[in-house]
Amino acid sequence: MEDEFENYGMEMPCLCDCGKWFDLNDGVGSYKNTNSIVCQSCGEIEEAEAERNNEIVDLLYSLADAEFTIKEVNERLKELNYDPEKDKDYD
Ligand SMILES: [Zn+2]
Repeated sequence: MEDEFENYGMEMPCLCDCGKWFDLNDGVGSYKNTNSIVCQSCGEIEEAEAERNNEIVDLLYSLADAEFTIKEVNERLKELNYDPEKDKDYD
């Protein structure tokens, strides 16, 4: 088994969830499980996932904001009796 010798020469060998051995000093804190340390490549993957999730949340907030604004603007235009046919000059 080659895997058993993969940790040879490491100060503090740790086994990542992905099955890869890494030295504790090279490990990074996991985004998914804050109490665990993962290997560098898993850390990079988790970081990219976390960034993607954060951006999606931001975009969904922006979308909800935009939808609210559209609703408000349409209501106000209705109050002003705006008629797209008659009030063409504002286009
Ligand atoms: Zn890993």
